Amino acid sequence: MFDKVLIANRGEIALRIQRACKELGIATVAVHSTADADAMHVRLADESVCIGPPAARDSYLNIPALITACEITGADAVHPGYGFLSENAKFAEILDEHKITFIGPTAEHIRIMGDKIAAKDTARKLGIPCVPGSAGAVTTDAEALAVAKDIGFPVLVKAASGGGGRGMKVAKTAADLSEALSTARAEAKAAFGDDAVYLEKYLTKPRHIEIQVLADGKGNAVHVGERDCSLQRRHQKVWEEAPSPALNADQRAKIGETVASAMRKLKYRGVGTVEFLYENGQFYFIEMNTRLQVEHPVTEAITGLDLVIEQLRVAAGITLPYKQTDITFSGHAIECRVCAENPKTFRPSPGKITYWHPPGGLGVRVDSGAYQGYTIPPHYDSLIGKLIVQGKNRNECLMRLRRALSEFVIDGIETTIPLFGDLANQKDILDGVYDIHWLERYLEQSEGK
Ligand code: ADP
Repeated sequence: MFDKVLIANRGEIALRIQRACKELGIATVAVHSTADADAMHVRLADESVCIGPPAARDSYLNIPALITACEITGADAVHPGYGFLSENAKFAEILDEHKITFIGPTAEHIRIMGDKIAAKDTARKLGIPCVPGSAGAVTTDAEALAVAKDIGFPVLVKAASGGGGRGMKVAKTAADLSEALSTARAEAKAAFGDDAVYLEKYLTKPRHIEIQVLADGKGNAVHVGERDCSLQRRHQKVWEEAPSPALNADQRAKIGETVASAMRKLKYRGVGTVEFLYENGQFYFIEMNTRLQVEHPVTEAITGLDLVIEQLRVAAGITLPYKQTDITFSGHAIECRVCAENPKTFRPSPGKITYWHPPGGLGVRVDSGAYQGYTIPPHYDSLIGKLIVQGKNRNECLMRLRRALSEFVIDGIETTIPLFGDLANQKDILDGVYDIHWLERYLEQSEGK
């Protein structure tokens, strides 16, 4: 096992990783920008290193500064968390050259899955069903039109290097296609420096269901169930739950085994998530995330596994100790992403937290780096914490969620907690019948009121 892990991240996920390291007796190194000198992840780490000014490109994305921090502190491994450099193959390679372990998959696997066109191609070859679409990138409008006519409108133009819901444009009819292509290309070029785009059939009422896997790089892999992340705003997840209200045990076992067997064939290492859209009883692969995900705690809640500890173990070369039959599911869990944003306009609301009272009690977990007196810097993502609630079944989980939300008090800034209070009382949510467009429709309707 590692002696010292440097955590190349900030906020709640940096703390989450520190906790796992601490339980395993591994020393931790926090890195931080000058804007994060007072952050909780810095206070609780064994050591900390300032790696640059506030802008992420000069600090959390600054590879030379991170390598220097490893060398100064003698860290033998780096955990990248999510976002920042977590899916950067070059970073994994550079660490390798410096004999520092990257806690994640190989650079080659990151590279394949990081390019969505290559990822779809790989998925198809591994027997994973994909959304119908173009065979690769589309270069001309005429080529795109031919593909669109073949798969049928509406179609979605997607960026090959896409992420965070950016570089995606819908074309309802042939008349919209040319503009959708040029807008998606421009957005992709600006956000990712790569204007390659491809086409997919635009599904009108799917759920987003993703499968979590755990693998050791030696051909052993298990799936640890699914998460339903259909409640989204601007293609970004807002509320996640496990299990999905739409799947039964047989469906779970079938898609789970398809994914686990693909990971065995790939000799994938680490945690990973294979994301699908699910419509009319069919699964369609959209992408794979080769890292820990924000919503991993709902899986931990229903399996009893600590996914970060598992991730550390396989990264250290330990053989996966589980067979698929060792993985069991119990109860239900929901996660709400609490953001420092106005709950109606979603305008960011950084600033000082003057009062902080997180909820507690049975079945309630709050993962957050925030505290009373903490000033949320304006430079980063607005996620300030995650509320994860579990119960014996979905109904108990929802009851507990409403209770926990009513206890959660954050003053001094605006947060999305009131939105979750509303959602936890909506009939469709209580019934578990919602698709990826439900939340946008709900927000549009609430705007008029
Ligand atoms: P990103 O990497 O930018 O998050 P994804 O491919 O994971 O992009 O898609 C994000 C979300 O966009 C999905 O969860 C879904 O809501 C929507 N989406 C993606 N592909 C399609 C599609 N073919 N049809 C309808 N919605 C889609």
